[in-house]
Amino acid sequence: MKEEQLSPADMARMQLEKAARVMNLDPNLLTILRHPKRVVEVSIPVKMDDGKVQVFQGFRCQYNDFRGPFKGGIRFHPEVTRDEVIALAAWMTWKCALVDIPFGGGKGGVVCDPTKLSDRELERLTRRFTYTLMPLLGPDIDIPAPDVFTNEKTMAWIMDTYSIFAGYNAPGVVTGKSRTIGGSPGRREATGRGVCIVARKTLELFGETLENKTVAVQGFGNVGYHAALFLSQNGARVQAVTDVTGGVYREEGLDIEDLGRYAREHGGVAGYPKADPLPGEKIFGLPVDLLVPAALEGQIHSGNVHEIQARYIVEGANGPITPQADEVLNQKGVLVVPDILANSGGVVVSYFEWVQDRMALEWEEEEVNERLRKKLERATVEVKETAEQYHTDWRTAAYILAIRRIEEVYRERGLFP
Ligand code: GLU
Repeated sequence: MKEEQLSPADMARMQLEKAARVMNLDPNLLTILRHPKRVVEVSIPVKMDDGKVQVFQGFRCQYNDFRGPFKGGIRFHPEVTRDEVIALAAWMTWKCALVDIPFGGGKGGVVCDPTKLSDRELERLTRRFTYTLMPLLGPDIDIPAPDVFTNEKTMAWIMDTYSIFAGYNAPGVVTGKSRTIGGSPGRREATGRGVCIVARKTLELFGETLENKTVAVQGFGNVGYHAALFLSQNGARVQAVTDVTGGVYREEGLDIEDLGRYAREHGGVAGYPKADPLPGEKIFGLPVDLLVPAALEGQIHSGNVHEIQARYIVEGANGPITPQADEVLNQKGVLVVPDILANSGGVVVSYFEWVQDRMALEWEEEEVNERLRKKLERATVEVKETAEQYHTDWRTAAYILAIRRIEEVYRERGLFP
């Protein structure tokens, strides 16, 4: 299939099939894992502020629950498709298995442009979506979390709506909530913190450190911002950041906190006065040590992969590299640290949040961060060792580890009936 025609679900399937080949996976299990368990599509009627009703399209894919309840974010974005949600849910399945937390994979999305909706409209949309999905959600069934353009506020509306209909307070039905209503310390920063932990450990395994390494980050949302922040706090020089509004470059490194304040006030990084402007598409061609794509899927493809000069790519986003570009990077000797490892910090702390909710107690932030560090460092070492054992790339190695864990459960439980 031509690369332009590849959907995210095709990409996810190609990655799975490659791992299945390399690990010699039981074809019956591969057949099962190629398909999502359930995909629902819903219509969400919302009364807009002008009194008119608009109907939005929403999806939830529950990909696989062999290892535990479905887990994964909900995104609000104009380009959400059924197919994209399926791919993202598959990636969540492998991600949770790779870092060995007792969850399966799911993902949801609503086709909308949240930047054009008022807060009241977003609230009505979120609550109605939750209500529509009510029978499919629950702390032991399916647990959403934030993703692109959703945040703590969105999670609070989901938690409140679910709790009202359930008839009891159910904080464990979503993660990524604010602390007041059962969120975990450190959850908001967790994905970006995880990107930094995994990058640091990866370099360490090759005898390097983050000190003075140059970095370029695509995307300045929750993941990109915190990844840039922690990388710079760990000694790296984040020279370039781009987002939908444009980009900025500063040879000596950017002051990420200051850039973050500017981006919040101005709706993006474009026009930041303390750095040079950088056209968005130039981000991938910069001569940096580390490249962190932290925006959307399919950003690095056959058309731009040849520009890449970075030695390491750490995938903050889900699915930012097409399988074709992946092959080129592997041949060039660029080490790609795959999404299911690099950005798993978010769902790991989601798991800690869910555990705290079940126990009705709150851990100290240091404890959360320390547990996160241990989990991610262990997973990074395991991925490297598996890559060496199978003479393969890190993405395939991460898939092999994840699928082995799912396979163990499948063997124990068997196939019904
Ligand atoms: N949306 C995040 C991800 O893609 C977090 C999911 C979660 O915490 O459940 O990994």
